[in-house]
Order: sequence, then C-alpha cells, then structure tokens
Amino acid sequence: MLKINQRFLLRHFLRHAHNKVRVRFAPSPTGHLHLGGLRTALYNFLYARHLGGKFLLRIEDTDQTRLVPGASERLVEDLRWAGIEIDEGPGFEGEVGPYVQSHRREIYSKAIGELLQNGRAYRCFCTERRLDLLRKEALRTRQVPRYDNKCRHLTATETEALLAKGTPHCIRFKLTDHEEPLEDLIYGSVHHNVSDTEGDPVVMKSDQFPTYHFANVVDDHLMGITHVLRGVEWQISTTKHLLLYKAFGWQPPKFGHLPLLVNADGTKLSKRQGDIGIQHFRQRGYFPLALINYVVSAGGGFEHRTNAKQQLLSMQELGEQFQIERVNSHPSRLNPELLDDLNRLEIGKRLSGKESRGELVKQVQDLVKEAYPKHSNLDLAEDHILDVLNWSSQRLTLLQDLTSSNN
Ligand SMILES: [Zn+2]
Repeated sequence: MLKINQRFLLRHFLRHAHNKVRVRFAPSPTGHLHLGGLRTALYNFLYARHLGGKFLLRIEDTDQTRLVPGASERLVEDLRWAGIEIDEGPGFEGEVGPYVQSHRREIYSKAIGELLQNGRAYRCFCTERRLDLLRKEALRTRQVPRYDNKCRHLTATETEALLAKGTPHCIRFKLTDHEEPLEDLIYGSVHHNVSDTEGDPVVMKSDQFPTYHFANVVDDHLMGITHVLRGVEWQISTTKHLLLYKAFGWQPPKFGHLPLLVNADGTKLSKRQGDIGIQHFRQRGYFPLALINYVVSAGGGFEHRTNAKQQLLSMQELGEQFQIERVNSHPSRLNPELLDDLNRLEIGKRLSGKESRGELVKQVQDLVKEAYPKHSNLDLAEDHILDVLNWSSQRLTLLQDLTSSNN
C-alpha cells in the first residue's frame, strides 16, 4: 500500500515540477554583454523569480565563424555582477545539459534524422554558385531573394546517387503554407506566413552544424522551456519556429517579444557606439542595482511609479512586482540622466547601511591610492572619508568623481 502511495506522490510532485516556469537567456559568445542583452536576461530572470521558476543560461555557439574566445566566461561574470543568478547553465549543471550548443551536436543529428524520416526535411545539393545566381536573378527582377525549393523534388534514387558520390549538401525544412497562430505575450496576435516570403530554410549546414533556428527549437523543447522572452528582432522568425514545433509534434512554449531598446531621442542603440557594454558601466563606477533599475525603467513591466528617480528597487522587489503583461510594446527609451540619479541614490543607500558603508570607504580608499600613487601622506582614515562622503553624497554621481581632476 505504502509503495503505491509513494509512487502517487512522486508522480504528483513530478507533474508539478514539470508545470513550473522555465525560461532561458541564450546569447551567442561573440563579444561583451551589452544593455540589450542585460535587459533580456533580466526580464527572464525576474519572470522566473516572480513565479518560482528556473532561469537557464544556454550558450548558442553553432556559428563557429563568429566565436570570440573567453566571451562565455565574461558573460557569466557580467550576469553575476548584475545580480542575475543562474539556476542551470554551463558550470551550473542541471538535468537537461549540456548547456553549450556545440556540445549537443549528437542531439541535433538525431532530431534531423527524425525530420528526414517523416519527410519534413530533405537534402539540398545546390552549390553556392547556383544559390548566388538565384539571388542575382531575384535582384535583377526586383523580387525578394529566396531559395526555389528545387531539391524538394529529387527522387530517392537521385538523392542516393548524389550521396554515394559524396556530394556536399545541407538539410532544409519543408515549409507549409499553413500559418501557425502566434499569440505574443507582449504584442498580442501576430500574423506572418513564412512561406510567402521565404524558401525552405536550412536546418543543418554542410559543416554538420545546425542553424540557429533549428537548434533553438530543439533545445527549448528538450530543456523544458515554458516561456521564451527575447528581443523583438526574433518575432518574424517565431512563426517559422512554430512550424518546426508542429513538424515534431511538440507543444511550443509561450513567446513574448521585448521591444527595441533605444536612445532617448528614439535612435537605435548601437554596439558601434561602444558605450553600451556592461563592462563600460562597471569600469566607470556604476553600481549594479542602479544599472538594473535604469534598464527596467525604459521598458515597463512594473507597478506604475510617478517618480522613478526617487526610487531604487531591490532585485527581490523587482521580482515580486514584475508582470509580463505590463511590458510596453513600443520602443523602450533610455534616459541617461536617470542612471546618474539612480547611482546617487545607491551611494546614499550604501552610506546608510553599516556593512555597505565599510565597503564604500574601502572603495574610496582604493580609488584615492590609485589616483595618487606617489603621495605617502594621504589621509585615508575612515572618519575622514565618511565626512567627505556625507558632505558630498547629495551631489556625488560616481565615487570616481571624488578623485577625478575636474573636482
Ligand atoms: Zn537545393
């Protein structure tokens, strides 16, 4: 009797565990984490914390030509600095790993095999030269370039013969003109029929690496992801992803696309501007919580605040308040002045806490020593530094301002 009860309880527990929210942040290790990436990671993390779910980190490194050595480690370090805790990911192993896509190639091969078997994918032997001619012809006749699905119609015998000769090939997914409905958690109903504008997409490249779209779907399914919150630039691809889920017979996760993060004047943030990397803010002396509040202030998702610059919410408070329905669907404008206000608030807050006050003093001591390496008679006594901090804290945006030459 007892045995049956235990089994019942276990099953009950597993079903509950399975229903729990699981979200992921899935960057490519191609450089530093920047504000846009931080915002995506943060909203996923807060969503998981709000609903008692799990936050996963997955490294999407299938485009081997764009890899930057050490980038994954720096990403993890920037997330840690920001206060975003990883529940599962590289170095935080869970049950559905590995969490790095280049270590999952066997999994993708198996999944591709399934699609080939049920006739939803096919081998394409077209040469780069032929595809190039197609593109040029489309441009000449003012049409959108797209693959013409030629190899869909190869017979089994023709395919076998080409394979026997060792002809290089990729694998393509057969699009259908059926449109899967997309109910976006932030944008509402989205309509896009992929087959109207695209030829059959490549799912496995000739180098045997899966494409982004394919690996993404397979991993989200196998990792039990329940909600995908990602940048709006991916929204157009989501209808394609839904067709892949359908071809596998899998239940897709729910999707919410985050609006573009833009400058105060509405222009696009650009990595080329060089100043949107998290490293840049860290080096200049901004505190994590100020940066976090700054990023979320642009996009909404929280209880309405009449004066955001008077308030700094802790990560826990942000998690308690966050609601995906409250995220705006229009572009999120950043206001750099707010970041300075928030950092001043954070300095004031740290100054009023007993433990954080000590850390603040230590930071100032280090900054002074760094700024005046040749002075041996500096007054670095705690009382003196606290006096300076208390006296200047209303106007002090960055601790670095205490030692910079224009003060
Ligand atoms: Zn082809």
